[in-house]
Amino acid sequence: MRLRAVHADITTLAVDAIVNAANSSLLGGGGVDGAIHRAAGPQLLEECRLLRGCQTGEAKLTKGYRLPARFVIHTVGPIWQDGAHGELELLASCYRRSIEVAAANGIVTLAFPSISTGVFGYPVEPAAKVAVTAVRSAADEFPGIQEVVFCCFSATDLATYTRRLAEIGN
Ligand code: ADP
Repeated sequence: MRLRAVHADITTLAVDAIVNAANSSLLGGGGVDGAIHRAAGPQLLEECRLLRGCQTGEAKLTKGYRLPARFVIHTVGPIWQDGAHGELELLASCYRRSIEVAAANGIVTLAFPSISTGVFGYPVEPAAKVAVTAVRSAADEFPGIQEVVFCCFSATDLATYTRRLAEIGN
């Protein structure tokens, strides 16, 4: 599995699936979720309504509609409190479950936003460490997934992810 970090708007990426940092209702929000729904068009919300929400740390698949990506994997990150409320494990579960859902659907290339680090307040340094560690550890188990992109929305996030990837020898 190839891992790389890019500075981009995730809605523009031509990968098999993009991951959405959703809220538990799956009925739309701000940030990356709002951008994905705007770019995908109203049919995405219609399909999301049928899913009846998603628990924190879980992931659910929909089609991508008008997006260049064929699928969207919706995952719900933890809201940061103080780091002592299972935030790390829940965030790792978002990455792991998204990869499991991707593998189960024949997805080969996948892009993640920096889950929970916007409105949900997870500090980006530890969040990036969780992200790259969780994705790297899934790599051997899911050989069908060939490329995972960490899509960073700012240059400082890109620097953080690039450093974390270098730390794990990527
Ligand atoms: P959360 O509620 O999980 O914190 P947010 O959408 O508020 O989700 O933020 C998650 C990350 O997604 C933040 O780093 C934010 O800057 C980033 N982001 C916002 N819009 C986009 C976009 N169009 N493409 C990629 N990342 C985005």
